Amino acid sequence: MDPDLPHPAIAANLALVRERIVAAARQADRAVNDVELVAVAKTHPAAFVRAALVEGQFTFGENRVQEAAAKYPALRAEFPQLRLHLIGPLQTNKALDAVRLFDVIETVDRPKLAAALAAAMTKLGRRPDCYIQINSGEEPQKAGVTPADAAGFIAECRTKYDLPIKGLMCIPPVDQPVAPHFALVREIARRCGLEKLSMGMSGDFETAIRLGATSVRVGSAIFGARPLAASQAAP
Ligand SMILES: *Cc1c(COP(=O)(O)O)cnc(C)c1O
Repeated sequence: MDPDLPHPAIAANLALVRERIVAAARQADRAVNDVELVAVAKTHPAAFVRAALVEGQFTFGENRVQEAAAKYPALRAEFPQLRLHLIGPLQTNKALDAVRLFDVIETVDRPKLAAALAAAMTKLGRRPDCYIQINSGEEPQKAGVTPADAAGFIAECRTKYDLPIKGLMCIPPVDQPVAPHFALVREIARRCGLEKLSMGMSGDFETAIRLGATSVRVGSAIFGARPLAASQAAP
C-alpha cells in the first residue's frame, strides 16, 4: 500500500469504534463525553493520522518520542486542536523532547524520570498532564510502578517534583482477564484522588469503560494491523 495514501477503511473503522464507545458508556450509565478516544497511530504514516483528523478525531497516542517528532509538527500546524499522548516507556534523556511534543505523558513510573520531567517543564515553561503507569500484573518485563508502591510514588511526584499528576494508566497482562486489573487501578486512583483513567485497547475497551476508563487507547481497530516487527517491539 502507498504510505502517502490514507488507509481506505479509517473513516468507517473510526465510526464503528465511536459507536461502540457510545454503547458501552450508555450500558455503564456513564456520560459519553466522559470517555475520550485516544487513537493510537504508532507505526502508521502521517497520512493515516490525517485521515482520522479530517473525521474529527483530534487526540492521538504514540509510544515513541522520535516517531512522534517526525510525524506531528506538520499536522499540528494544519490542525491546532490536535492533542498527543505519550503511551510508551520514556527514557530520561528524551524527557525534554517529550515535554515539548506531548500534551499528556501517560507513562511516568520512576523517580529519575519524574525529576527529568520536572526539570524539562521548568526549562520549557510547558506543563503537560502526567499519568502514572501502574504495572497492575507486576510483570517484570513491563514498565510501571507496582500497586503497592503507587500511593508513595504519586505523593513523591506531587510534593517533591510538583508534577501535574492527573491520572493513572495500565496495560494488563495479555494472558489474564482484564477486569480485575482495571478495577484495581480504578481503586488506586480513587484513593489517591486522581480523576483520569487510561485503560482499555482495541480488544477490551468496552470492559475498561464499564470499569471507569476516562480514555481508551485504540489502535488496530481504527488503523488496521501494524507491521509485525513494530507490533512486537511495542508493549
Ligand atoms: C499499541 C498500544 C495500544 C493500542 O493497541 P491496539 O490493540 O492496537 O488497540 C494501546 N496502548 C498502548 C500502551 C500501546 O502501546
